[in-house]
Amino acid sequence: MKKLLKQYFGHDDFRPMQKQVIDHFLDGNDTVVVMPTGGGKSLCFQLPALVRSGTTIVISPLISLMKDQVDALTANGISATMLNSSVELEELNQRMSDASAGHYKLIYIAPERLANEYVRNWISKLDITALAVDEAHCISQWGHDFRPDYRNLKLFRQEFPDIPIIALTASATEHVRRDIVSELALKKEEVFVSGFYRENLHITVMSKSGATQKILWFLNKHKNESSIIYCFSRKETEALAQILRDEGINAGAYHAGLTPEKRNEVQNAFVHDDITVVVATIAFGMGIDKPDVRLVMHKTFPKTIEGYYQEIGRAGRDGLPSDVVMLYSAGDKMKLDYFLGQMEDTVQRDKEEKKIREVMDYAESRICRWQWITSYFGETGLERCGNCDVCVSNDNTEDATEIVQKILSAVIRTGNAFGKGYIVKVLRGSRDKNVLSRGHENLSVWGIAKEYSTQDLMEYIIELIALGFLKRNNGEYDTYHITKKGADFLNNRETIELPKRKKDIVAQVTKEEFDLCDREVFDSLRELRKEIADEKGLPTFVIFGDVALQEMARKLPTTTQEFAQISGVGAKKLQQYGDIFTEVISELKEQKHGRSRATCRRHNNSRTEAKQYRLDATKEMLKSKDSLEDMAEALGLSQGTIVKYIEEISEDENIDIKYLLPNQKAQKEIIEGFKKYGHTKLKPIFKHCKERYTYDEIRLVALCLKK
Ligand code: ADP
Ligand code: MG
Ligand code: ZN
Repeated sequence: MKKLLKQYFGHDDFRPMQKQVIDHFLDGNDTVVVMPTGGGKSLCFQLPALVRSGTTIVISPLISLMKDQVDALTANGISATMLNSSVELEELNQRMSDASAGHYKLIYIAPERLANEYVRNWISKLDITALAVDEAHCISQWGHDFRPDYRNLKLFRQEFPDIPIIALTASATEHVRRDIVSELALKKEEVFVSGFYRENLHITVMSKSGATQKILWFLNKHKNESSIIYCFSRKETEALAQILRDEGINAGAYHAGLTPEKRNEVQNAFVHDDITVVVATIAFGMGIDKPDVRLVMHKTFPKTIEGYYQEIGRAGRDGLPSDVVMLYSAGDKMKLDYFLGQMEDTVQRDKEEKKIREVMDYAESRICRWQWITSYFGETGLERCGNCDVCVSNDNTEDATEIVQKILSAVIRTGNAFGKGYIVKVLRGSRDKNVLSRGHENLSVWGIAKEYSTQDLMEYIIELIALGFLKRNNGEYDTYHITKKGADFLNNRETIELPKRKKDIVAQVTKEEFDLCDREVFDSLRELRKEIADEKGLPTFVIFGDVALQEMARKLPTTTQEFAQISGVGAKKLQQYGDIFTEVISELKEQKHGRSRATCRRHNNSRTEAKQYRLDATKEMLKSKDSLEDMAEALGLSQGTIVKYIEEISEDENIDIKYLLPNQKAQKEIIEGFKKYGHTKLKPIFKHCKERYTYDEIRLVALCLKK
């Protein structure tokens, strides 16, 4: 099986759980796979399809998903096709007859086709050996993406009771899982659930102030890499996309207000790397499996944790480090409140309100983001990821006792009755009319934290809420009172450490993985990939994924054998692209060499400067008759090097070095040696003197003889 994995998919190893799933499914059992986005679910039915005789039917909800998968399979030398409404009738007939002749290992079918008796009849005459139901949550009304057509799948089990079924989804609620099992009428199924933690996604939640700057900063970090930015409204997506384009970034807007054609166009451009940044409302992303999205940003906070998890899940499917950033402002809640307020159905409204609260809790929480998310989904065991903004800042704390005392005092002095913004105003000594009208400028706490920015104070307050020092008052407004815990802190004169304030956003973002030269080669290979992809009308990742290109940039394979070792290079791709890639890599390698020679020269230049300094120093020390040992010591060099320097200096200057020579007897012996063996080699002289004198001494004598 590992051989097939390398030969067809180019991978060296299975991802966690893939092997168990495949073994179980190949034994002829019904199988349910719950794996996060990017976990590698497709392989769980694609590899078994190769092992089995006959054809595997795959059900998938969206044409775009089918198309990408069929393209990817074909590029890997696996015969696959799809039947859906995008295919012309004539072509459809051709494919169906090819299928009847046993041409395909995998046939992707849209669920609505199964309602058609003619199609079912046709299927029954094929040599079907398995059924795979991708995005299986679509079958459940409890899922976030119910598709009535998926209910047709019931018929499949009825007509083909003995064919094993595998159902795959990233959506894991118990309810959905039960629906999948019952709707598909699975038998003695086993459910494989892998965790929700995605270690390659670095989560950051930061305040929304200076949003555009922050967005630009992250886009710059991920220059020319695929990114998605989620916004609140259509208008916002258009506006931001325009701002980005003005900055020279290849950005497009995507929202429900566009015509289906236009939406398709944007999606396609993104998949083909013609657009690098899509600014979207949440509607974007469903229909794409683009593996190399490096940045997902939320300019506004999402409405549910489930939705958030799905959206961030679109980053880094290929397992490479990717950034996930939420710009958070409690003020955004007001926008949502407005929409909630317009809802008629109060039960539904309360439900949504609760969901939004959860997202706010998440954003304001000070526990590891991944710990929070995984435990939200009922998983235990993850302590800290070490990579998210919370983990990073917790590694970086400072004593905050004084400022915390000041904030808590301000809450008490103003009567436990105000919101965050107001408390901050008092602390910073604002003469806002609200403050003055209450006479709060006369309080002892007025202006006691002037040196802190509004932003920092806001964040401290949010932290104190999260720590349980402050609590929201009951009632309509976002006002706060001190808790017993907070009061104890003050009364007992406790101390507290809190994360250091972030001076700039750069500090908390993990650094790039590439070194510079690799990056250049990588970018060139990406260009090559893009050229080939455009020529063939395929998405770039169908040619090679970023993982493969990075490995190429690291290992610089120039022969077919070397190229075959790269992960992501299977037999078919080796044959198709091996030559062109190794050729280009050879060129790049040469350029790189040329460049490193150039850098060497540059190094040499700077070395010359340093050397000149040492030569001068040596000269000075010779003049003051320092010993060889002292000179070596002073310059941090070996005595041999000093002697070389002396040789160099002697070439164009007459400096007295006699004082460095060994005693008369030694000199005589050495000179004898030179007479006997000449000046070309030192070793015979060394031997002649029975190794009593060092090479350095011999060279110094030789130097004096020359003069
Ligand atoms: P899912 O359907 O679970 O979201 P996919 O099947 O689309 O995930 O796979 C996500 C990415 O992981 C793809 O780019 C795929 O090539 C890659 N992948 C899958 N299995 C492996 C593996 N065993 N080794 C390396 N990469 C893999
Ligand atoms: Mg998938
Ligand atoms: Zn963490």
